[in-house]
Amino acid sequence: TRASFLHDTTRSAQIYKEAARWIPGGVTANIKYFEPYPIVMESAKGPYLHDVDGNQYVDYNLCYGALILGHGHPALSSALQQQLSQIGTAIFGTPHKLETEMARKLADLYPSIEQVRFTNSGLEATLLAIRLATAWTGRTKLAKFEGHYHGSYDQVLISVNPHRRDLAHPPSPTADSNGLPDYYAENTVVLPFNDLDQTADILKKHRHEIAAVIMEPIQGGFIPPDPAFLRGLRELTREYGMVLIFDEVKTGFRIGLSGAQGRYEVIPDLTALGKVLGGGFPVGAVGGKKEIMELCSPAGRTDILTTDSQPAAHEHTTPLFHSGTYNGHPLILAAGLATIETLQTGGAYQQLEESAMKLRTGIEQLLNVHGIVSQTVGVGSIFNLVLKEGSVRQIQDVLESDLSLRKKLDMHIVSHGIFIKPLNRFSISLVHTSKVIDETLERFEHGVKRLVRK
Ligand code: PMP
Repeated sequence: TRASFLHDTTRSAQIYKEAARWIPGGVTANIKYFEPYPIVMESAKGPYLHDVDGNQYVDYNLCYGALILGHGHPALSSALQQQLSQIGTAIFGTPHKLETEMARKLADLYPSIEQVRFTNSGLEATLLAIRLATAWTGRTKLAKFEGHYHGSYDQVLISVNPHRRDLAHPPSPTADSNGLPDYYAENTVVLPFNDLDQTADILKKHRHEIAAVIMEPIQGGFIPPDPAFLRGLRELTREYGMVLIFDEVKTGFRIGLSGAQGRYEVIPDLTALGKVLGGGFPVGAVGGKKEIMELCSPAGRTDILTTDSQPAAHEHTTPLFHSGTYNGHPLILAAGLATIETLQTGGAYQQLEESAMKLRTGIEQLLNVHGIVSQTVGVGSIFNLVLKEGSVRQIQDVLESDLSLRKKLDMHIVSHGIFIKPLNRFSISLVHTSKVIDETLERFEHGVKRLVRK
């Protein structure tokens, strides 16, 4: 057992203090920050992280769910080495074979995908999907769901943390971030997740203006949708000519090889992928119907007309501009393909789900024994711990749970060698074996005991 967070992380505190001189808040992404300071990690192997003070943690953050094979999986290392030795350089800046290989693979696995474009992050994937929907429909408004996250850019940083709206003075629809002009809120329609009647009313009211409905099919990666809600939304968007975008950045290759759309058998028009797809490297992808994806094809639409003959109508249309120096990076696609191949070897998802279930049951029992009202909420290999009774169907249900107790609990379990970002979800990897889960539950018990003794 360990002493306390402050006692055990003095090197982290020092390094963090120096970092904060040069980097705002000492973090390169706001999500990485927590009080009193984030732990500075130094190395990682399999399911474990090691910090600069020599503490070891079982990693359940797994880079926000991206590392489904754990840290330093041999399949990934060898694919990277092989790729690097074959091509002799990291990137060509031209088309190459792995792009087609990965695109074909995504089309094979995801029911919604016929064509694919690659990006460098999940953010860029949802951005491109929304631009495609805007071009396709000729409409300008975006509908998104309360509490759903689609990346850190202006158009989607609306109602990600709905409670912030009340905390802001004066209350503002764009309270999720400083620096957003009001027009983003004015062009965004916010919908309630898992509430088909209200969603239908709102969509109907804006039926001529909304280009796309974007959503995390599983909210935050852990709150499951009512299957009837997803199906109803599919019908409504079809009826109103809106593009339905599934943001499967968290759920793609996590919930199964074909993501949430495979699990719930609801097929969106466009899909955004990221995280697991890059095997721990920065990547994103947008896939969807050929007719929509083709909007960004420059083929036959070059600026200078080279023939005298009258071009066909579509040849006059400006292609939707999508670019990026590092799009389709060969090393990253090699890492992604190796990850997918490993996931395709038999029983991977069953193993992930069994590990998750074992951990969830163990945590629920421990908290119950110590009189803490709680439940785990999740799908497949992601779950969250919600300290309340009653169903959890929307972000509001999570906000109404005992978040301050959860935060205290999280600091204790982190101090006892379980790494999660406080208040965030748990993700499981293929190297979180039954033995690792047992070890985790032992550590968890120490953490809970420390909490209730205080
Ligand atoms: N969409 C969802 C559902 C996500 O979970 C994330 C990342 N947490 C993003 C988009 C943005 O991805 P990235 O961080 O790669 O830009």
